[in-house]
Amino acid sequence: MNKKLLTKLAYILASLLIFGVFLYLIQIPSFRNFLTKIENTTFDLRQNIVSKYKKTSNEIVIIDINDASYEYIAEKFGSWPAPRAFWADLIINLEPVNPDMIIFDMLFLKRYTADGNSDFELIKAVKDNKNVYVSMNLDNYPKEVRTPPKLPAALQNSIGNDFLIKQNPDLVYVNCRSVMDEILNGTKNIGLINVQRDKDGIIRTMPPFSYYDGAYYKHLTILAGLDYLNINTNQFKMSKNGEIVFDKNHILPLTKEGKVILNWYGPEWSFNYVPLWKVSNAIEKNDRKFLEDNFKNKIVFVGVTANSLSDIKSTPVSYMFPGVEVQATFLNNLLDNNFIKKTYIIFDIFIAILMAGLIALGVMNFKAPLKSVLLFLGLQAGYFIISIILMGFFNIWVNITAPFVLSILTFAGAYVVKYLITSRDYEHTYKLAVTDGLTEMFNHRYFQEQMTNNIGNAKRYNSVFSLIMVDIDFFKKFNDTYGHQSGDAVLRQVAQTIKKNIRSTDIPCRYGGEEMSVILTNTNKEDAVKTAIKICEAVRNKEFELATGDRTHVTISLGVASMPENGDTTEKLIEYADKCLYVAKRNGRNQVVSDAPDDTPTE
Ligand code: GH3
Ligand code: MG
Ligand code: MG
Repeated sequence: MNKKLLTKLAYILASLLIFGVFLYLIQIPSFRNFLTKIENTTFDLRQNIVSKYKKTSNEIVIIDINDASYEYIAEKFGSWPAPRAFWADLIINLEPVNPDMIIFDMLFLKRYTADGNSDFELIKAVKDNKNVYVSMNLDNYPKEVRTPPKLPAALQNSIGNDFLIKQNPDLVYVNCRSVMDEILNGTKNIGLINVQRDKDGIIRTMPPFSYYDGAYYKHLTILAGLDYLNINTNQFKMSKNGEIVFDKNHILPLTKEGKVILNWYGPEWSFNYVPLWKVSNAIEKNDRKFLEDNFKNKIVFVGVTANSLSDIKSTPVSYMFPGVEVQATFLNNLLDNNFIKKTYIIFDIFIAILMAGLIALGVMNFKAPLKSVLLFLGLQAGYFIISIILMGFFNIWVNITAPFVLSILTFAGAYVVKYLITSRDYEHTYKLAVTDGLTEMFNHRYFQEQMTNNIGNAKRYNSVFSLIMVDIDFFKKFNDTYGHQSGDAVLRQVAQTIKKNIRSTDIPCRYGGEEMSVILTNTNKEDAVKTAIKICEAVRNKEFELATGDRTHVTISLGVASMPENGDTTEKLIEYADKCLYVAKRNGRNQVVSDAPDDTPTE
């Protein structure tokens, strides 16, 4: 297999491995929670950006009980809450200017500051005006603490295919706060104001329906919103993809927890607000124009924003978000049909694989690491921008954490693969640089290097080492007789024979031409001579195969020099070995010589 293909295969295998690790990791609940946290934070970031360009509905106005209004009421009545006749008065005075709806994001509880006449006025106002909506709240108090009330059949709903909602225990309650009986039984306009925070305390979703004692109950805004849209039914059905379709322009896309994801407007206080004390003042002064200007044909929410009454929530766009504005946002989302839809997991994983794949390709092909880093950052930033556009224009929430995590894993993994491949390449290059191509012995440069090393070692540790010089006998004639090809074949085979007869710590080199050398580390003259003789005999006894297919014999001559007795420099040791070689040649070749008189010529 060629190298390019192998490299590709390594990257593919590594990618598969990383994807496997990723799939394994996201099975671990704590890791998944961690990813969810990050993803939610990026959702909040996106919401912060896109909400600035979203406008709240002009049809919605909030009468808010702010801190000043709270003071105003405490001053007027000597206590909070105001007597219920006060709210009856508010309804009675708003109705003549024809608000579309008056929605109380407030509970009128059974026993709380009950006062016969005052309560009766509120009951009457609520019963008389079909566009007034009031609240109730489910909870999980034990039945022993408070007897769960029976809720009127008129408030009950059924949902076909309710698999998504039923499987979320958070949406199933065992108790209900006891609203004044006459209100509970006197109007159909009572909806839930239950709110649920995510684990980090931030409200991102709302439950359109909750389950209590055998039936579903509508959230206040769903109740009022459907009336506003003239959709009159208590029977709903969930589609296979988890949507409740009211009509083709009003759809609830449910999360797998059976909730809707809110799409926020502005930072906060972005609805039209009129503080209660101003409304109350206008009523007292009979300022009909003020009431008309503010509430004619409006959906009017009444709710608390005062810090002292603490109905303040954390949302993606603000940590100090009025609770009543959360409800208004919910209703506004229903009317504008702009709830957030999450993409399918399959889609998110597909994108993750696509991005990780591109990054792996980048790391594989780019020489400069900077390019790969830029590609990585560019892809992440690009996808983040796309995700903002998708949220801003299409209300779609694509997951950006999964692609990011898989990309990081792939980026790191691809670099590990790249590093391994490069270091293998480096080893290969190094080997080429020190090897002789024909004989596959070390080359002359490496020989010189190793001589220097061994001399250094022998000096430092007072140890010994030896050098054998090898020269093939009558090789010129051999070449003339059999040709250079056969000469080369013999050179290769002599090299092999030498390698076979030395230790793994010895260093066989091609000195040049048909001369070879062996450095024997930590070996004295006596042992070196034994090795030389072994080599000499092995060559003598070997049948060499020639390029022509013929077989023949060759002999070699060997000279041995040792440190320290024959010198302590490369030059001196080589010179001595050469002298021995000369003597060997003169004495008839095919032999080992390890002693040479000083005056021996070196050719
Ligand atoms: P001697 O026994 O005295 O060593 O005789 P010789 O002919 O071997 O003499 P010498 O060592 O001087 O010969 C060198 C010859 O070796 C010259 C050249 O033809 C041959 N030779 C050197 N390098 C190579 C090579 O790489 N391949 C081949 N085929 N022959 C080579
Ligand atoms: Mg020679
Ligand atoms: Mg020779």
